[in-house]
Amino acid sequence: MRRSCIKVLKKGGEPIRRILLEMDLLDNSARIASKEEFLYLPLTRDPVEAELKVITGEFELTEQEFEEQKGQLKLEDLLDEVPHFEIIGDIALIEDDVPEPEKTAEAIMKVKKNVKTVLAAISPVEGEFRTRRFRTVAGENKTSTVHREYGSRYLIDLERAYFTPRLATERSRILGQIREGQTVVDMFAGVGPYSIMIARKSQDIRVIAIDKNPDAVEFLRHNVELNSVANVEAIEGDANVEAERFAGVADHVIMNLPHNANEFLDAAVKLCARNAVIHYYDITPEDDLFESSLKLIEKAADRAGRSVEVVDTRVVRSYAPHQFNVCIEVRVL
Ligand code: SAM
Repeated sequence: MRRSCIKVLKKGGEPIRRILLEMDLLDNSARIASKEEFLYLPLTRDPVEAELKVITGEFELTEQEFEEQKGQLKLEDLLDEVPHFEIIGDIALIEDDVPEPEKTAEAIMKVKKNVKTVLAAISPVEGEFRTRRFRTVAGENKTSTVHREYGSRYLIDLERAYFTPRLATERSRILGQIREGQTVVDMFAGVGPYSIMIARKSQDIRVIAIDKNPDAVEFLRHNVELNSVANVEAIEGDANVEAERFAGVADHVIMNLPHNANEFLDAAVKLCARNAVIHYYDITPEDDLFESSLKLIEKAADRAGRSVEVVDTRVVRSYAPHQFNVCIEVRVL
């Protein structure tokens, strides 16, 4: 079978394999090939340019023949068309508009032995707390689970607090920038995936984790215990208000509230010590990925009598047709 593929040095293969998997770009029906010092990762389709930007490290986009992955029961064997789905802990999430949800759910449970429940989302991510509503399609009737990510564990109730496994690679990118002795303010911490991962890096990192959703903070506090991290201060409150108490303390400010983060930019700048980095997430159209958002950040810095230097701009993932989840990183001078 001929496939487009990513050619990468073996030692750089695993992070790229994970990224492709998260983006649903890795073709599991074909066997990953290796030749000399290279790995060839088969793709489900040609990536769009913005997706290529998400893949870090050196690689080449090429195509070649692959052997079929044999022996494993695959969803393709059971379904005419395999819809997109996500796995969080032992719960699989499908969209409610998949053609035959019950058949799909049954197939997922047959192939993915660790899945105990299949939920269909019956609402988009909505409201101030960014939650969704679900119906149980198969398995146990539940919306809570424990999800593992990069060695951390998170207890989550998907109807009561936001969580997505699709940001795992992004979170690890941020982690790489945090140094011992630094203070991080996670303004929209949810159940804690950024905060806890960062706190686990070193006891010498102070993490201030804020969220307005009382349920999210309940899970955050539980997850702080579950992962034995004593250096996370979990705060229930409005990030704009709580920022007042921590003016000038932050070396990093994480603003993971795409769509609305611009309403919190004054507070974010206020949090920043000199040379602190703001990690600002947004959802933007492909013809204006960074420019307008960057202007909003610059204006907020200007209002506080400060200026910014761009550290990085990147596409995190595609969000909807022609819409991307982006991250803009600026140093606040
Ligand atoms: N960072 C977490 C993650 O990656 O899973 C959660 C991100 S979620 C997109 C945004 C979070 O912001 C939600 O948990 C929501 O409750 C919280 N939130 C919304 N408005 C807020 C506010 N004014 N102050 C603090 N948190 C807020």
